[in-house]
Order: sequence, then C-alpha cells, then structure tokens
Amino acid sequence: MLERKQVPMLATSLAFSHQLLEEVIQKGDHVVDATMGNGHDTVFLAGLVGEAGKVYAFDIQNQALQTTQAKLLQKALIDRVTLISDGHENIKNYLGKNEVIQAAIFNLGYLPRSDKTIITKPSTTLQALRVLCSHLGKKGRILIVAYYGHDGGLEELHQVENFCQKLPQDEFQTLTYRFLNQKNQPPILFCIERKG
Ligand code: SAH
Repeated sequence: MLERKQVPMLATSLAFSHQLLEEVIQKGDHVVDATMGNGHDTVFLAGLVGEAGKVYAFDIQNQALQTTQAKLLQKALIDRVTLISDGHENIKNYLGKNEVIQAAIFNLGYLPRSDKTIITKPSTTLQALRVLCSHLGKKGRILIVAYYGHDGGLEELHQVENFCQKLPQDEFQTLTYRFLNQKNQPPILFCIERKG
C-alpha cells in the first residue's frame, strides 16, 4: 500500500505570520519590527533582508533591546539592524520621507516573563500602523499578532480589527486568521497588504 506523504497541520498565527513575511521580503528590503520583545522576529527579518537590507526594530524596554542585541550579535546579523529605544508611534522620526517599507510586524501585548503592566496600547499601535501604511511598498505586508488575554487586550484587538476593516479596498486588502475552538486565547493574526 502507498504511504501517505507527511503534511503539516494548520500553522499557528505566529508561524503563519512568518510565512506571509517570507513571501514578500527580498534581499535589500527595508522592514520594521515594531515590537522587538525577545528579538525572535528581528532575527528572522534580519535573515530575510540580507546584508544589503535594513531592519528597524523598536521597543520601549531596555530588557528587550539587550536580549535582541545579544541574539543578533551571536548570529552575526547586527550589521543590518537599527535597534531603536523608542515607541513605534514615533516611527516617522526614523524613516526617510519617501522611504519604502516592504514589511512590518507587531506582537501586541506584554513581554513574556517581564513586567505585565508594560503593554502595547490601541492609540499608539494605530498611530504606528497609519505611518507604516503610508510607507508600505507595493505588495508589501504588515503583520499584527494580537495577544488579547490581558487587561486592555480586547479593546486593542477590536481597534486593530476596525482599522483593518476600514482601509480602502482599492489600495489595500486585509485579512484575519484565527482558531475558533482553542483554549487560552491564542493570538489572532491580521495582515494588511498593499495592492500591487
Ligand atoms: N505578547 C507577545 C509578546 C509581545 S512583546 C508574546 O506573548 O509573545 C510586546 C513588546 O512591545 C514588549 O517588549 C513591549 O515592551 C513592547 N512595547 C510596548 N509598547 C510599545 C511601543 N509603544 N513601542 C514599541 N514597543 C512597545
């Protein structure tokens, strides 16, 4: 009897966010990690943009910058990354006027195993999204991994969803990816894509 080939199960929101980034990022691109956290996404993005590319990585906690810097040094990827100790709502201060950003990722919520009161907030998240949408290249994508189990998380989730829903269809398409029957509020993914 023929053996069935191995197939993967549905990707988690986190894994799917990386698939969606990988499809559109090329060597030399400029991209943004809006919430560095433990540096996992920064390292992933730094690998995709290559030596000629650039990653802008933001966080407001020193711990995040230190952890991320150590990971980048260890993997010899620091040369293409700008670590920024500032809120992503100030992103426009770091980008050139006409600079094209091909992709960006947000991990909303608090930094695991750290201060649970330092969280992303709806107004600053939306401010960063507005700026990033205005710099997003053709077929560029913004991924938002929304953790919402903490206080204020649901409000942020709703505001992000509302923002995505209202983007003009002639310029952007947006989607959400979520598991419907899982315990412990796994994160919900949003993707904003600029039309080509
Ligand atoms: N909840 C996710 C991780 C989120 S980390 C998980 O469980 O894997 C979110 C990061 O965003 C934190 O490191 C936090 O310091 C950072 N952050 C909060 N507000 C920010 C802001 N305005 N600009 C940039 N980073 C911010």
